[in-house]
This record gives sequence, structure tokens and C-alpha cells, in this order.
Amino acid sequence: MTGNLQELKTLLDDVSEGHRLTVTEAESLFKVRDRSSFLITAAADALREKRCGNAVTWVKNQNINCSNVCVNSCGFCGYSCKPGDSNAFELTPEEVGEKAALAASRGVTEICTVSGLHPAYDLNSYLSIYRAIRENAPGVHIHASNPMEVAYAARKTGCSTREVLEAFRDASVGTLCGTAAEILVDEIRDVICPEKISTDDWVRIIKESHNLGIRSTATIMYGHCESVTDQVRHLSILRDIQDETHGFTEFVPLSFIHPGTPLYRKGMARPGATGREDMLMIAVSRLFLDNFTNIQVSWVKLGLKMVQIGLMSGANDIGGTLYEESISSSAGAKAGEYLDPADMLYISEDLGRTLVERRTDYSPVH
Ligand code: SF4
Repeated sequence: MTGNLQELKTLLDDVSEGHRLTVTEAESLFKVRDRSSFLITAAADALREKRCGNAVTWVKNQNINCSNVCVNSCGFCGYSCKPGDSNAFELTPEEVGEKAALAASRGVTEICTVSGLHPAYDLNSYLSIYRAIRENAPGVHIHASNPMEVAYAARKTGCSTREVLEAFRDASVGTLCGTAAEILVDEIRDVICPEKISTDDWVRIIKESHNLGIRSTATIMYGHCESVTDQVRHLSILRDIQDETHGFTEFVPLSFIHPGTPLYRKGMARPGATGREDMLMIAVSRLFLDNFTNIQVSWVKLGLKMVQIGLMSGANDIGGTLYEESISSSAGAKAGEYLDPADMLYISEDLGRTLVERRTDYSPVH
């Protein structure tokens, strides 16, 4: 199909008129390697304009990583370590509270927290963290945990994942992180994160969360050992969930950062996605995920110049300021820990688009 330029143009026209891309069509778009790639990004950019206008949105947020000690050993993770390792750390709830107070003094509207699966953590440990944030940063949205952490807290506490989510909600968790999705294909999960929850469990927990009124982000981690077919299977699962729950606030493609990861060092993964693949991941996602309004391009993974290309390929959101970032940098990412809104403004204005600060739910700050 994609060997034929006219057929490609017809397909892109059909999508812009409302045709829902099939899995086979999406796969064929991902496989385009020549200058026709720019037809796909242009179609995605036009759809972005139609669906969410010309604003480039961002959120003033701060990350708090509470511990890097983890019982799992995911092959793509350069962040985690084992108890007793020289770089192991664990914040007390008091220390989390101090970081939350600092974040609040910076005027953030969102605090994000994800941690390793600490061997001593149970549901109460997570709740102490959220209470510390709530007390020290009242009014700030808490975007926390992911389905893996929910499953872990349930297992360690002897309760159901639904009970964990209800407790999180009562402790002021506003939205759940849609991470730990990686690639929602069990054959790939068995290679890159064999101890993580299965695809079925991830889907069940995320739906449970949405049904309890806790919305979440949606992510994919691509560019390691998955195929285009796996990528599309993943996107298809997300689209089906969104049809059912409408609980995803945004889709965030996360490009694999390889240098510091066991997976790459053992020769089990390629050295990350290429620029073409990064660009097409954003574009095809925009075209395929017809029930998502917001597609984010990650500056942590891609750096500022590629972020601008992403904004021209279907993305409408840059993500957050972060202030602290250690998960991607531990794997070898070079983008740093903080993105200054002045830099966001620079690349947005260069595209003739307006930079708009948003909250977690995408309502404008002013
Ligand atoms: S990705 Fe998360 S669960 Fe996996 S090893 Fe790293 S910190 Fe642990």
C-alpha cells in the first residue's frame, strides 16, 4: 500500500475525513521510510490543528522519586538498584514533604511521583507519601503511581487492586501514571520486564482506575526489541480502552533510552529509535488514536530540537518542567532535569503557535 504514493495520499485524506485506521493500515504507515514520511507527519499535524487548535500546552510540575530500590530488574531500567547498593536511596515521608513544600513554593500545579518497588513498601507506605505531599502542597494535583505499583501495593498488603485505588483516591491521588505499560504484548514483556504485571493485569487495573474516577495518562516505550506489529497492537489496546472508559488524559510516547540499560548491554535491544521512528510514532499515534485529544512529545527522551519536530508531527503538548528527573537520566538521557518555559516559548513561537500553561486535566491555568 505505502509503495503507492497515490494510495497513501488517499488513505491520509480518508483519515482526515474521519476514517478509523485499521491495524494493518497503521502498520503500513510505520513502515514508510522515504520522503513520504513527511506526508504522514503533515496529515497528523493537520489533524492536530483540527482536534486541538494551535496551542502548545505545558504543565508546571515537579517530579519526586521516593526511592530507587526495586525488587524488579527490568532490562530497560538504568534507575533501579538493590538494597545496600552504594547509590540506593529512600526518602522518608518527612523528606517527601520537604520536596513537596519546595515544589509548592515554585508554584507548580502538579506533583508526580513514581518509585521503585521497595521491598519494605506496602499500601501504607504509599499512603504516607501521598499524605506528606497533600499536607505540604495543598491544592497541588497529585499524579502518582502506575498499575504496577498498584498491583505491588495490593500484593504486599493482601488486598485487592480496587481497594488500593480507592485508598489512593481517598489520599488525594488525582490521576494515575500510565507507565509500566511499556509494550502491551506479553511476548515482549517477557523479554524486557519479566517480573512486571501482564498485559491483561495492566489493562484491568487501568480500567479499574478510570471506573473509579481516577483518570490516567497512556504511554508506550518503543525502540528496543519490539516490532511495528507490537507497537500497533499496543496502540490498539489503548484505543479500545479509551473507547470504553474515556479515562486517558493524553498519550505520551516514550522513546527507549539505551546506553545505561542491561537490555542494551546484553545485546538484547537496539540502540533506541531513529529520528524517523520518533517522528512517525507521534504522527501515526495522532492518526490512529482518534479518541485521544492530547499527544505529548517528551523533551526528556527526545531533547528540545526533536520536540519541535514532534510538535510539527501531530503533538500538541510538551509535558512539564519536572525540576527533578532521574529515571531517564540514569539510563543515559542527556536532556537534563528541568525545561525552562522560556525554551518552550522559543520553539512554540518559532512555529507560529501559542504557548499555554495547562493543568493536569488540560484546563488552562489562567
Ligand atoms: S522500571 Fe520500575 S519496576 Fe522495573 S526495575 Fe525499574 S524501577 Fe523497578
